[in-house]
Amino acid sequence: MKIGILALQGAFAEHAKVLEKLGVVSVEIRNLEDFQQHQSDLSGLILPGGESTTMGKLLRDQQMLIPIREAISSGLPVFGTCAGLILLAKEITSQEESHLGTMDIVVERNAYGRQLGSFYTEAECKGVGQIPMTFIRGPIISEVGKDVDVLAVVNNQIVAAQEKNMLVTSFHPELTDDVLLHQYFINMCKEKS
Ligand code: GLN
Repeated sequence: MKIGILALQGAFAEHAKVLEKLGVVSVEIRNLEDFQQHQSDLSGLILPGGESTTMGKLLRDQQMLIPIREAISSGLPVFGTCAGLILLAKEITSQEESHLGTMDIVVERNAYGRQLGSFYTEAECKGVGQIPMTFIRGPIISEVGKDVDVLAVVNNQIVAAQEKNMLVTSFHPELTDDVLLHQYFINMCKEKS
């Protein structure tokens, strides 16, 4: 099994370390050529945290937006953390354009107040267990479509969700020692391949 990690910007190296710990081979996807070269043998794709506006612009500039969107729509398992979640959302509040827009969720960027923007907690995640959650100016999922399964809620906000082959968290599982969520994603990838 090989998992691609979008490596345009942000916390991609941390995801690679978690996959290595789990004995899974990963490959950095830095441009369209990387994606096309590996697409046929990718079991999944991780979209890391960082800055969604910058990543969205780079995806467009490098003509990667449409091929990645099509691959996800055709069933490629994808795991979006924080900015990666924003990339997948169908609608971004106060923003005209979405990016990949494949997941039936509405998100608000930087919606936690200044004080609450970054915090750590532990909470139950459905199908995964009790896990540590590190939030860094993460988005809030304000609406979910009928096919979206809510996996975790913290302070009355949805912080993890899944719709078919798409898994998202508004926190950063790659910044803790816990590997349970990545293991959950790997299981999604195994089911698909
Ligand atoms: N605030 C960032 C954005 O809107 C996301 C923060 C993160 O990925 N840690 O893109």
